[in-house]
Amino acid sequence: MFLRLLLSPTIGRSALHRCPAARTTMSSFATSSNAPPPTPSFANSRLTPQALSEYYEAQFDSKGIEKFSVRDPASGAEIAALDLHGAAEAKIAVDRAHDAFRNEWNPNRVTAQARYDALVRWERLIRENARDLATLLTLENGKPISEATIEVAGGADSVAWFAEEARRIDGDVMQGAKRRQRVMVLKQPVGVVGAITPWNFPFSMITRKIGPALAAGCTVVVKPSEETPLSAIALTYLAHEAGFPKGGVQIVCGDAKAIGAELTGSSKVRKIGFTGSTAVGKLLMAQSASSIKRISLELGGNAPFIVFEDADLDRAALALLGSGLRNAGQTCICADKVLVHDDVHDAFAEKLAEKMARLRLGHGLDKSTTHGPLINAAALDKVEAHVTEAVEAGATLVVGGSRANPGEGLEGHFFQPTLLTDVKVDMSCFREENFGPVLSLHRFKTDEEALEIANDTEYGLAAYFYTSSMRRSWTISEGLEYGMVGCNDVAVTGVTTPFGGWKQSGLGCEHSKYGIEEFLQKKAVFLTF
Ligand code: ADP
Repeated sequence: MFLRLLLSPTIGRSALHRCPAARTTMSSFATSSNAPPPTPSFANSRLTPQALSEYYEAQFDSKGIEKFSVRDPASGAEIAALDLHGAAEAKIAVDRAHDAFRNEWNPNRVTAQARYDALVRWERLIRENARDLATLLTLENGKPISEATIEVAGGADSVAWFAEEARRIDGDVMQGAKRRQRVMVLKQPVGVVGAITPWNFPFSMITRKIGPALAAGCTVVVKPSEETPLSAIALTYLAHEAGFPKGGVQIVCGDAKAIGAELTGSSKVRKIGFTGSTAVGKLLMAQSASSIKRISLELGGNAPFIVFEDADLDRAALALLGSGLRNAGQTCICADKVLVHDDVHDAFAEKLAEKMARLRLGHGLDKSTTHGPLINAAALDKVEAHVTEAVEAGATLVVGGSRANPGEGLEGHFFQPTLLTDVKVDMSCFREENFGPVLSLHRFKTDEEALEIANDTEYGLAAYFYTSSMRRSWTISEGLEYGMVGCNDVAVTGVTTPFGGWKQSGLGCEHSKYGIEEFLQKKAVFLTF
């Protein structure tokens, strides 16, 4: 199957023949599990797509309204059909959240301990239902169940972290300008938060926004991606089960533009937390300007991955596969532009090709699957266009390069894990966020050249480099214009550390001791005696 797909008409044969590695890899690359999609099962009957749809729709009185489909990206099958809500429902949700902030979740009535207790109950419910939540996540997003399980556990960790942070919100006492004056700096919740989240991490992008918001004493209206609303509804359901007031955690999905306009335009919403594309981030920022809302943005990336000549090549190759192909390449911190020192370029490419031969495309619920589908047809078109453009402009296709159909019943949006060499810096696959399973290799000769190419982008989210030199560990770490830098590591996220971008990759940060500050405002109280 791989041979047939690799020689698809979109990619010319001549490009393949320029690369010896392509010929050695073709026959051993297994893309197919050849198994029909497994039937999902749920231990908790309240967490099935059907039960969650009903839970969501019971929030609003919207009988007879148009529906939108939630589909399994691996098979194209409809998982759920939800009411397509818009500005009217967003306004209702904001009003409820505003009311809850004044009443049931009023920071003057709810103690830090009570917020901690509720968050811990929510965390427990997430962990108890982790298997069902991971199944839902895989069904609507397509990622392998192992990755979905890690994401759910990470979401629970996030809630646990912010539960603790709820008890650590403190202030300062400062000297006043007068002799008999002291000034207290209080930290108070900003109020209603609008959280707009993407489909690539449908679970953890929500917990890292709702967790700190609730811990700080805010209430929240979540607008998840319409591609993956079920994980968000499940989280909302479990939050209500954990004892948060219904108005305190609201969810609305459907017409993204209309809901976004309502959340950003409402004077009752005091903060927007967004993860998604830079284009939509700019729009939300502009829309929020009229009411001077606080805004946190976690936007696109164009992550460099630099392999110096003194790097441990096996370790770097394994890390690159983990970073560049994670979630089929659909993470904002995926390595997009791989810079490899001329001396080790061929050996490194060979190692990558060897390891990629062991990857398996398939349905995420099939345990043998290492890589699932892309989220939708538009994503598939974009990745294919990037690869085609690169090969036509002289890049060498070493592995993959085409759409795939890995088995019976899997007519979804699959693209083969792909390795390109001889990629030029102006090719789209290199200079744009690719969001597909594509590794694009470019040779370099000096540290200065690598750093200049790495920084030559409007993005600044994550960057990685591999070296055994202590000097480079510092000079390159300090020279990279990025919010997160991995030196001999690609694991640059965690609850204890700040996550946020430089330049057009974002504003503010999530997680760590800094994360909760985004949901608090300072008040100076002058006590004169
Ligand atoms: P992606 O390209 O990764 O889907 P988007 O920025 O388009 O990233 O989407 C991220 C989130 O932003 C999703 O929840 C999506 O529905 C939402 N979104 C998209 N367009 C708008 C908009 N005009 N206003 C508000 N939210 C939007």
